[in-house]
Amino acid sequence: MSAPSLLDCPEAQFAIAAVREAAQLTRRVQQEMCTEALTKGDKSPVTVADFSAQAIVAKRMAEALPDARLVGEEDAADLNATDEGRATLAQIQHFLEANIPGVSADEVCQLIDHGNAKPEGKFWTLDPVDGTKGFLRGDQYAVALALIEDGQVSLGVLGCPELNDQLSPELGGSGALLIAKRGEGAFVASVTGDAEWKPLKVSPCEEVKDTRIFRSVETAHTNTGQLGQLAGAMGVEAQPIPMDSQAKYAVLAAGGGEMLVRLLSANRPDYREKIWDQAAGSIVVEEAGGRVTDLDGKPLDFSHGTSLLENRGVLATNGQVHQAALEALRAIGA
Ligand code: AMP
Ligand code: MG
Repeated sequence: MSAPSLLDCPEAQFAIAAVREAAQLTRRVQQEMCTEALTKGDKSPVTVADFSAQAIVAKRMAEALPDARLVGEEDAADLNATDEGRATLAQIQHFLEANIPGVSADEVCQLIDHGNAKPEGKFWTLDPVDGTKGFLRGDQYAVALALIEDGQVSLGVLGCPELNDQLSPELGGSGALLIAKRGEGAFVASVTGDAEWKPLKVSPCEEVKDTRIFRSVETAHTNTGQLGQLAGAMGVEAQPIPMDSQAKYAVLAAGGGEMLVRLLSANRPDYREKIWDQAAGSIVVEEAGGRVTDLDGKPLDFSHGTSLLENRGVLATNGQVHQAALEALRAIGA
């Protein structure tokens, strides 16, 4: 199809270009740094990718939307504090050189700290590498950027470099780029820009027992025991599908499953979701026709700083199975 009209505004154009560039950058870091020579537990590639992606989004934002404010997950404080930090900074500078010729270490830090705005009124929120464990394993991860206006997400872009055939065979091996704008739908193209935009639509499945459920790979980010109870209460026999990052939202929006649930882990029952972990993904699912609430059925409220303080966990579905899932959550006391 021809480009959807929601792409016409400067904010959408900035977000697409910035996420695309950041996603390519994370791929480059992964190719060069995630070698077999790396010791297990070495987190340096993800640190370098995280900071580099935040810096490039900040740079493009300052150019395209000079008055915009950014709330990013990372801050540069540690990069100048220790020898290890300074070595990381040098690597970030090296990777950014290809995107910002001649960039200095000071400018890198300033760009990263451009993402320290207050989460109030109208602002952007960024998770430069969501699903860091997936990134290190070579599994799913996402660059997630969203615009929040007065507590509600109004625009979201997800770059999922490892998501291909799960969303659309036409993407080939290019990775997926998704955009959603409130009231104007959700669309997918390739991260590299060589596939046409296609509208996203959630699965029409109404049969609760057939619900395909997505969960985090990391058991510390959910409650696997309770998840088994929840599936049982819904009559679902199939095992939940583990997947890292907001790529789960992307697959849900494309109809590749019916439900995503973030249960509170037993050791962090008071955990509150971070805004950058849910903003872009939730609007993509909503605009593809799905529904997103917390575990109590309340809408996600992005007006309480960097965490969803007034929400417990997340339930995102194709809409059809939402009520049944909420009832099952209540029945198991989750
Ligand atoms: P996932 O890829 O689904 O495992 O989600 C990754 C996100 O989970 C990370 O970006 C973290 O911010 C977030 N996270 C960290 N600790 C927790 C926790 N205890 N419960 C839920 N999410 C968490
Ligand atoms: Mg994250």
